[in-house]
Amino acid sequence: MSEAPCLKTLTEVSTLDHLVIRDRDHDCEGFGKHHVCVKVEAVADLPTRFGHFRIVAFYNNRDAKEHIAIVHGDVLGRENVVTRLHSECLTGDALGSLRCDCRDQLGVALTRIAREPCGVLLYLRQEGRGIGLLNKVRAYALQDRGLDTVDANLALGFRDDERDYAVAAHMLASLTLRSIRLLTNNPRKVEELQRYGIRVVDRIPHVIPANDYNRFYLETKANRSGHFIDFEGKPHDTEQDDPVVVAPANGDLGR
Ligand SMILES: [Zn+2]
Ligand SMILES: [Zn+2]
Repeated sequence: MSEAPCLKTLTEVSTLDHLVIRDRDHDCEGFGKHHVCVKVEAVADLPTRFGHFRIVAFYNNRDAKEHIAIVHGDVLGRENVVTRLHSECLTGDALGSLRCDCRDQLGVALTRIAREPCGVLLYLRQEGRGIGLLNKVRAYALQDRGLDTVDANLALGFRDDERDYAVAAHMLASLTLRSIRLLTNNPRKVEELQRYGIRVVDRIPHVIPANDYNRFYLETKANRSGHFIDFEGKPHDTEQDDPVVVAPANGDLGR
């Protein structure tokens, strides 16, 4: 049975800026077992190296996590909106860490969405699979010492999935998307969003193009499930919940 939330107050409006006004007094019964409710607090332009977007900042009633939607084109009330869910990874996204491939996943997704007439990337603030940056670095440190990798992996593997998808589903509903095409290699993500009443009409494979710098990393990750060891003996973690699909060198970029 669908757990579609109370959508009555998430009415369609004409511009993203109007979402802020619409949501001023928004307070629904919430999504999922934690009754997560979010509202649009602020909207602004965001030109990036990947394309010109608008940034939509959400308040949520459960914790201090400030989730964000990066929006390209006119998505309000639209069907078939290309959508990507990305989990925050400070070390990968911002610092270019090679312990994971989050930055590649983010860049490829934003490039893809910028090519579409309209699309959305939800940037979900669940660093280190929801355990936070501090615990993620602790887990890295344990792995560096070659000790307690089981505990380290358990720590990094912990994740409250249901809440993640509930937040994402409410954000998509707040943006009044009528249906989405989800950019993911993970069919479970599609099912989870559908549970919360989001119409997912298509799944688009999220294909990372290999280059000379990341080919070994990406191909190794794609060829093995879960964790793997690189040539320095350091274990890597799958922080994004999508298995990697790697395009052949000089291949297309997953159009
Ligand atoms: Zn709500
Ligand atoms: Zn990462």
